[in-house]
Amino acid sequence: MSPPTLIDTHPDLSGTAPLALSYELFPPRSPAAAETLWHTIRELEATRPDYVSVTYGANGSTRDTAVELVNRLLTETSLRPLAHLTCVGNTPQELADIIGELLDVGVRGILALRGDHSKDAIAAVPGALRYAQDLVDLIRRVEQRRSALLCAGKVAIGVAAYPTRHPESPTEEHDIEVLLAKQRSGADFAITQVFFHTEQYADLVIRARRAGVTIPIIPGVMPLTSHRRVTRLGELTGVEPAPKLLSSLAGAETAAERLEIGVRATVDLANAALDAGAPGLHLYTFNEHQSALDVLDRLDLPRHARRSRSIRPAAIRHAASGRQQTDQDLIVQQ
Ligand code: FAD
Repeated sequence: MSPPTLIDTHPDLSGTAPLALSYELFPPRSPAAAETLWHTIRELEATRPDYVSVTYGANGSTRDTAVELVNRLLTETSLRPLAHLTCVGNTPQELADIIGELLDVGVRGILALRGDHSKDAIAAVPGALRYAQDLVDLIRRVEQRRSALLCAGKVAIGVAAYPTRHPESPTEEHDIEVLLAKQRSGADFAITQVFFHTEQYADLVIRARRAGVTIPIIPGVMPLTSHRRVTRLGELTGVEPAPKLLSSLAGAETAAERLEIGVRATVDLANAALDAGAPGLHLYTFNEHQSALDVLDRLDLPRHARRSRSIRPAAIRHAASGRQQTDQDLIVQQ
């Protein structure tokens, strides 16, 4: 009998892959906010997400609180952090130092962003990186220098993608060219900006795939349960909220009615993205768990049975002793 061919022994991969689930958090601005955030973190942890992302203020304005939150997630929870990093307002050397610091505490995923700035801010920092693409290049260079410490493993790099035109872009086609450039520089996946119309995610993916973008594009979905927040985010991001949703939220007579309207609209958005083949869902939580959990309850996500990692005893010891973990510590603990 001849030995089995590669095809004979190849595992069956035809089944549906589990969907990724992740949440966005931001560093707390006060002790009271930290307390609320940690309650939220524990609630979200119970849903066993694949990672939670931690935002980073443009110009490094939240550097210390962001790194502290990432560190605490690593040492006190079973969650894997994806650290956002913005390049605007920092020199390449400062950014290389921050990237090194993140890798040293055990971060293995970075969302590389430009951040928002005034035009003067770029001129003020000599040698500043102009675009997120440059930050992707820099992260890969730092990773290369630490290859042995990472056991030659890779840092997962995410980037932003835009279902509607980025406010500074001339066209949506230009946005796709930029996404392609970020992929060429070494981005592994993208998370989208908020969007408010069901067809916008599918449209982005179709345009991106036609242009040669092959990396996963994960829809970033915001629970649409607060009129004030939807309006504010629309202003901040330049993404126009659906007028019908805004008037429904404004017309709700009770908080329960508003929640119902918002959760239903969010579930419709998420389902449209999943129907379009989204590989997962990234929920913008605004550090609150309730609407995110309500949305999840209504979605029937095929999830893997990820066993929760128990908190690593060595990690707790290091945290208690104040000693920073080395890459070797992390390798031993895994
Ligand atoms: P880039 O990809 O650099 O694009 C910025 C602009 O420059 C675009 O108009 C693009 O078309 C143009 N551009 C890019 N490359 C080139 C090129 N080579 N030639 C010509 N033009 C080019 N902001 C924060 O401050 N902190 C956060 O934590 C944060 N998290 C975010 C998370 C997600 C998922 C998303 C979608 C956005 C987030 N933002 C955050 C906002 C983000 O910083 C802004 O949207 C910012 O305006 C653009 O960032 P970018 O990474 O897309 O930049």
